[in-house]
Amino acid sequence: MKRKFQYKIVCCFTAFCMIMTVAAVRVYTAGGNAALQTDINTANSYVFELNNLRGNIYDCNGKPLTGDTLQYYSLNLSGKRPVLNKCDAPQKDKNIYSFCTAVRYSGATLARHLLGYTDLQNKGVTGIEKAYDDILFCDDYLKISIPKRADGTINKTAKPEIYEGAAGGAVYLTIDKDIQRIAENNCKEIKKGAVVITEASSGKIRALASFPNYNQNDVAKSLNDDASPLINRALGCFSVGSVFKPCIAICALEAGIGGFTHTCTGNLMVEGHLFNCHKLDGHGNMNLKNAIAQSCNTYFYSVAQKIDAAAMYNKATRLGFGASFTVCDGISTAAADLPPCDLLKNSKSTVANFAIGQGSITASPLVLSNLYCAIANGGFYHMPTLVEKTVKDGTENYTQGGAKIKVTRKEYADYLKTCLKEVIISGTGKAAASDIVDLCGKTATAQTGQKDKSGELLNLWFCGFFPNERPVYTVVILKEGAHSGEASLCKNFKNIAQDITINKNLLDKTVK
Ligand SMILES: [Zn+2]
Repeated sequence: MKRKFQYKIVCCFTAFCMIMTVAAVRVYTAGGNAALQTDINTANSYVFELNNLRGNIYDCNGKPLTGDTLQYYSLNLSGKRPVLNKCDAPQKDKNIYSFCTAVRYSGATLARHLLGYTDLQNKGVTGIEKAYDDILFCDDYLKISIPKRADGTINKTAKPEIYEGAAGGAVYLTIDKDIQRIAENNCKEIKKGAVVITEASSGKIRALASFPNYNQNDVAKSLNDDASPLINRALGCFSVGSVFKPCIAICALEAGIGGFTHTCTGNLMVEGHLFNCHKLDGHGNMNLKNAIAQSCNTYFYSVAQKIDAAAMYNKATRLGFGASFTVCDGISTAAADLPPCDLLKNSKSTVANFAIGQGSITASPLVLSNLYCAIANGGFYHMPTLVEKTVKDGTENYTQGGAKIKVTRKEYADYLKTCLKEVIISGTGKAAASDIVDLCGKTATAQTGQKDKSGELLNLWFCGFFPNERPVYTVVILKEGAHSGEASLCKNFKNIAQDITINKNLLDKTVK
């Protein structure tokens, strides 16, 4: 196969500063893995193979998510044969040529679970790297060539040259690198969990992170880690708890019982079983808005008994509960659990558990994102998507947007928005209140039925969106394996919302 090579000048130490920018731009487009220092001795030159020319993965603004860190090299030409070494900074020596290339993964790489990693053959093993390997893969390498004389000595009057073959294709994600960084920075202390940030109006996923993180350059280290850092928790399914309550609230509004009130005494007897509220001495008189704001369990145990079981089941499935779905070619959420419709019809205690998101219902953070997007948008959501387009051999292929799914009437969604605002004003989400941007959200502390030596393991959630009047982003945060008494995720949500508001200049677009 005929290969077309492009000649490029590599910066030498005398002109290093002047052309470093050019080199940086070149290596960004080249991409590739950490250097393979294979010395190929041809008739006219010494050649070192550097990075594999695997195509890069980019964010929605064309910023590279792979290959965005520079690796410096020093090429020592003082001896009989050239010696190439990695180094931390450009070397200042008259016999040394310094240059840099891009490293595919580094300590600064974001969205590692989503990107995945490659093996020693430069094939994708997980994540986007695996799902889009046919687009990204390349069997060629970036090379540096050092001219030599007939006697085999280095020709020091000729400059080394970089040969850049045809790189692999490119994948452009819906991820926004700035938002991804904000999400990861504000959830660093979450040992096990996930964050998903979605553009509310389109369902495009702008950030998707899983904790703990792992090192793409040392995957073996993570294989025996008890915290299972290689699992992408953003795609997993977990007990959901009270962040599910707005789904029941939609059903109550549609059933015409949005005005239902209930006096919480701290518990409710259902089918001979005592179901507790989290406030054991009771919340007193509750309406729908207060019950959401205070996350009163007994209100929801009670109101759910008055709603047709099939209507609740169908509403949950319309939101994506109970199913796995695909966010891009080759990447899907785990299959979630939902109590069977017949069981809901015939068991009041199953309904009570279901009403507060407990029992056999589990969901991924992405499904909860659907629910909160629907409220933010006035009753509909788009199926979440992750890839904007791919580019291969000069041909761009755009991905279709996620299907638009109507969940409820605008007036019901708008009313629930006021309930989720009340959560922040006077309810369980008060710690999320911000002076910068108005927020809507809902907390949850979901029981998992599992225990460790410190007690029952709980899943903490925060689901919300902002700015209130014209929501732009929906945020879902999960902390898995928490214990009773641990701080909620309110501050994580507040800090993410504030940082995005400032970074994306959202204040200009809000009424606040
Ligand atoms: Zn209560």
